Amino acid sequence: VSEPPAAAALVTDLVGDRADGWDRRGRIPVDVLRELGSKGLLCAEVPARLGGLGLTSVPNGELTAHTGALCSSLRSVMTSQGMAAWAIGRFGSEQQRVSYLSRLTTGELVGIAFSERAAGSDLSAMSTEIHVEGDCVVVEGKKVWVTGAAYADLLVVIGRFGDGAAAVVVPADAPGVTVRRVPDPLGCRAAGHADVDLAAVRLPSDALLRGAGQPLTMLVTAALTYGRLSVAWGCVGILRACLTAATRHARSRHQFGKALAEHQLVGRHLAELLVGEQVATRVCEHASRCWDSGSPEMITAAVLAKHVSAGHAARGASTAVQVLASAGARDGHVVARAYRDAKLMEIIEGSNEICQLVLADHALAAAS
Ligand SMILES: Cc1cc2nc3c(=O)[nH]c(=O)nc-3n(C[C@H](O)[C@H](O)[C@H](O)COP(=O)(O)OP(=O)(O)OC[C@H]3O[C@@H](n4cnc5c(N)ncnc54)[C@H](O)[C@@H]3O)c2cc1C
Repeated sequence: VSEPPAAAALVTDLVGDRADGWDRRGRIPVDVLRELGSKGLLCAEVPARLGGLGLTSVPNGELTAHTGALCSSLRSVMTSQGMAAWAIGRFGSEQQRVSYLSRLTTGELVGIAFSERAAGSDLSAMSTEIHVEGDCVVVEGKKVWVTGAAYADLLVVIGRFGDGAAAVVVPADAPGVTVRRVPDPLGCRAAGHADVDLAAVRLPSDALLRGAGQPLTMLVTAALTYGRLSVAWGCVGILRACLTAATRHARSRHQFGKALAEHQLVGRHLAELLVGEQVATRVCEHASRCWDSGSPEMITAAVLAKHVSAGHAARGASTAVQVLASAGARDGHVVARAYRDAKLMEIIEGSNEICQLVLADHALAAAS
């Protein structure tokens, strides 16, 4: 697998018609994740010399959307693996990049942990401590809702380091690490969300990524920007799945002597879904181009893409359920799953409100 079409075909093959079963059981078989990981598909922007596909952001985004259309849980795992890999690539030394990224492209799985009970939207309240003791690095803290942690071999943990912050790579089976699945999440039920306790975890000092001590906001914003863009593309996938399901149903189901699609109010629903899919795709493409060119607009473009796409996905999934009505109003239907999954997209990687605050700051700065 070295080309996006082959990568997308492999995802289609491996998911098949199993996404609903995974969702109901709350588990993706780990061999599926390892197979995708071993082909570099879970972090496809990693350079080919380190086992990734070396994709630029638009083709990686399209692969993410393709995955998101089939299974948002798998797409969530892909987002976290990509975000963790990106953080290692950005903050790691060359030796750390070679050592960790080649593991992440040969089947090992990783989650990335920012959030804590008292530090959700406000990550500046995080209390996880990372410090150096002799030739060890010690990590102490409690992280929550870490996507993919239930499957992970490694965890990238963000914490305080002196007056600044640092990221450290923690083996999930290191002494002092406890991983507990979040029970019964509303959506993305098979994404392996887990709370992670780190009780005086001692690691060799090379587990600490280079650049330790930088300001927390810089570290967090850099890592989250990849995640926001990836979630935004995942939302494009949700919208595409909903548009396909709604149009098929509206063509084939008849009421009052004609196809649902011929009733103008149902047609309006389909138009709204198409608008949502197109608008989300365009904002994602723009943000991806900013990402690839290293544009100073990149951070705002990613927030805008995430905010716009998540809003359209949440409204679009609700619209799709409306079009299918009883046919989509049960667990096991793609639009019912999309409805639950899409709501979470308005919470993660910066909730609607946090995105709006960032965008308002941008508007004010641009106007001054
Ligand atoms: C499915 C899922 C996956 C996740 N995956 C990860 C992961 O992989 N790694 C990780 O570290 N974390 C993860 N999280 C945690 C996620 O990042 C947080 O849930 C998110 O940042 C919101 O924090 P909170 O839930 O504590 O809500 P809170 O911060 O308590 O916010 C509650 C509400 O208040 C609003 N609010 C908060 N502050 C303001 C403000 N200043 N102005 C206006 N409104 C405000 C919020 O927008 C929200 O609507 C995940 C969460 C979920 C649900």
